[in-house]
Amino acid sequence: MRIRLKPLTIARIFDIPVKISYGWMPIFGLHVYAVSVYYLPRHLHDFSTPEYWFLGLVTTILLFLSVLGHELGHALFARAEGLHIHDITLHLFGGLARFDREAPTPIADFKIGVAGPATSFLYGLIFFLLNLVSVYIHPSRPAALLTNYLALTNLILAVFNLLPGYPLDGGRILRAWLWHRYGDFQAATRWAIQAGRGIAYVLIACGAFWVITWKTGADIFIGIWAIFVGVFLKDAADGSFKYWRSLYEAEHLRVADAMNQSVTISPEMTIEELIQTVLPQHRQPSFPVLHQHQFVGIVSLERLRSIPRQRWPQVTTRDVMHPASAGLALHPQTPLSEAESLLRDNNVGYAGVVDDQGRLVGFIGLLEIRKRLAS
Ligand SMILES: [Zn+2]
Repeated sequence: MRIRLKPLTIARIFDIPVKISYGWMPIFGLHVYAVSVYYLPRHLHDFSTPEYWFLGLVTTILLFLSVLGHELGHALFARAEGLHIHDITLHLFGGLARFDREAPTPIADFKIGVAGPATSFLYGLIFFLLNLVSVYIHPSRPAALLTNYLALTNLILAVFNLLPGYPLDGGRILRAWLWHRYGDFQAATRWAIQAGRGIAYVLIACGAFWVITWKTGADIFIGIWAIFVGVFLKDAADGSFKYWRSLYEAEHLRVADAMNQSVTISPEMTIEELIQTVLPQHRQPSFPVLHQHQFVGIVSLERLRSIPRQRWPQVTTRDVMHPASAGLALHPQTPLSEAESLLRDNNVGYAGVVDDQGRLVGFIGLLEIRKRLAS
């Protein structure tokens, strides 16, 4: 079983909600711990335990801000390309900026992908310059050590994110290239996601190997870290696959993909016949009405309730049907999302599916549409 908690919104920057996932919290804690207990005491002597922990926390927060800057780099470039940004979700070793749709061109996709690592390189450079200054002032001060660490981690962040597997930035860049080269966005996305899963498995395997063969002190964290990152990446690749597929389906599913075949009735059929002979065999709330192979309307059981029983033999389906109008007849190629809004407004919740020759080829209800769109 997998428990999924909603990410926590912690800020709004440039009108973009910034969230953290709960899975991020133990990683944040682990990072504070690794830096305070192992990294700092090894390089920085004569400090008290609370001071190490304080410095560990500061380092972790600065790393967190570096990741945030990286994601903002993506988001702002995406906005410049005309995309709307839903939110940014942060994990310590990367984040995910989500947009309302895909980049319009391979070039735009490439730019959005490169923007994050470029920002991390820039941060790395800034921390490197700060490091030069602080080393010049006093080589053994915490500032020198922290700027050194942050220059290095930002560099790692940039390089790691350039690994060519989606949803890592390198994967986006790979996709942009495949898309540009072969002209097929869907296939390019699928390949890039597969590459992402492959990289995740390699990371987990390398991390596990590292932990198993580990010999000395703090280095075990490198292995644990690789496993964490691999699991996260695998999860993110699966998540992007689902997200991408739902976007794709909403755009590409047609009425023909969700319609059913239904028994049809004639306009001359009486209510008595419908209820006593058709309904026991076909339990459905509505029926399409055909006259000389033409779709003429829909009878819904809902409407029959108001007809007294003694009148059933006289009233025909023609008398009570909803006559076929624009909202009651759909084309098989109508996008499913459009069909959903049409059926919501037509008061019947059902529609006949009619081809170019005017033949009824299927019958479709709101419930089936929603099921198909949600699957
Ligand atoms: Zn990125």
